[in-house]
Amino acid sequence: MEEFYHGLLAEEIPMKTRIASAGFCALAAVMIVSTPVAARTLVHAGGLIDGTSDTARREVTIVVDADRISAVESGFTKPGEGDEVIDLRGSTVLPGLMDMHVHLSSEFSKDSYIERFQLDPADYAFRSVVYAERTLMAGFTTVRNPGDRDNVTIALRKAIDKGLVIGPRIFTAGKSLATTGGHADPTNGMSAYLRGDPGPKQGVINGSAEAAKAVRQRYKEGADFIKITATGGVLSVAKSGLNPQFSDEELQAVIRTAADYGFHVAAHCHGAEGMKRAVRAGVRSIEHGTYMDEEVMELMKQHDTYYVPTIMAGDWVAEKAEIDGFFPELVRPKAAAIGPVIQQTFGKAYRAGVKIAFGTDSGVSAHGDNGEEFALMVEAGMPAMEAIQSATMTTARLLEVSDELGSVEAGKIADLVAVEGDPLADITLLQQVSFVMKDGVVYKSP
Ligand SMILES: [Zn+2]
Repeated sequence: MEEFYHGLLAEEIPMKTRIASAGFCALAAVMIVSTPVAARTLVHAGGLIDGTSDTARREVTIVVDADRISAVESGFTKPGEGDEVIDLRGSTVLPGLMDMHVHLSSEFSKDSYIERFQLDPADYAFRSVVYAERTLMAGFTTVRNPGDRDNVTIALRKAIDKGLVIGPRIFTAGKSLATTGGHADPTNGMSAYLRGDPGPKQGVINGSAEAAKAVRQRYKEGADFIKITATGGVLSVAKSGLNPQFSDEELQAVIRTAADYGFHVAAHCHGAEGMKRAVRAGVRSIEHGTYMDEEVMELMKQHDTYYVPTIMAGDWVAEKAEIDGFFPELVRPKAAAIGPVIQQTFGKAYRAGVKIAFGTDSGVSAHGDNGEEFALMVEAGMPAMEAIQSATMTTARLLEVSDELGSVEAGKIADLVAVEGDPLADITLLQQVSFVMKDGVVYKSP
């Protein structure tokens, strides 16, 4: 196997095939991935949406040198000796898309509640490998993973960074933080024999000292940011989806400690009171934000808080709530009530001028369908160009990586995707990404 690949020139095997084959042999993977494709790669793009300008450009060449964009030139530049040309003259090229809310360690189904008692961490880990590849092939080269189980996505991030697994660049929170009985308390809905009393190590806190300890535990385990469940949630087996679940003191302790370790804090919220507390305390983003009122929107603008809407998750739970027996009886009415509201809230927040960062909650809906969120955003009143920017420049700013990612500009990391045709005319084209480059490596070609 190893000999076979080493005997061939890099250009002779499509990059995706090489990466996929290399997965069988760790040594080959490291050596092949680091082989430069050519002196330079010239991407001839029929159209370019660069992530920053408000209009698309026509007929552009993006010059890629190893893992970086070295130039963006007008017209189709002629290749020099050794240059490779990627012909996307019939396509529109965009920056690699970024989804701020995915859960790569699972994908929801009717069986999810019982699987908690049947599956091992390794089972979830193997599934996450499949979900990660689907996400990348859908054009999402960077994701933020707010909450997992058993730190599966921390291990997944390491495996992807090492070139052992194909997937997006991951920023993960590891285990979400909740208070006792809160949305991310892992023993909600269990019998007295199994409930126990999880603490900061398991991501459950009560009071400032435990809040600080839980953040430090995530640092020790290798998380990139902190996720809290500031209000109830839809899918946990608990009565309220809306109630505030952190006190002001607990929120402040989380945010103060997170700042010590360079973490931002993302807050899952459905009810307005929990949102107000979280925004005032200084969270970076509000996730879902279902019952956001005008006061919350004003506070978010004052505090520069991002809104990550996840309209897809709302749609998905509302649809499943209609099926008898799909959800436990405690969950079903929450799904039916909360699900349909998110898209309207998104429209109001957009018109009020709240900063919107693209996020889907994939793992509730299926991984790889992430691009469907764009159509829901446009349907609710956001222009297509702004929807695209919400998944490129805005998300890069949220993650504080806008000097490296989020636009097609000289000096940035070469994360590019393409769709055939013009996504500004038909936003659903973003559900059929035909070309994916991450770190200068091509994973998918038309
Ligand atoms: Zn989520």
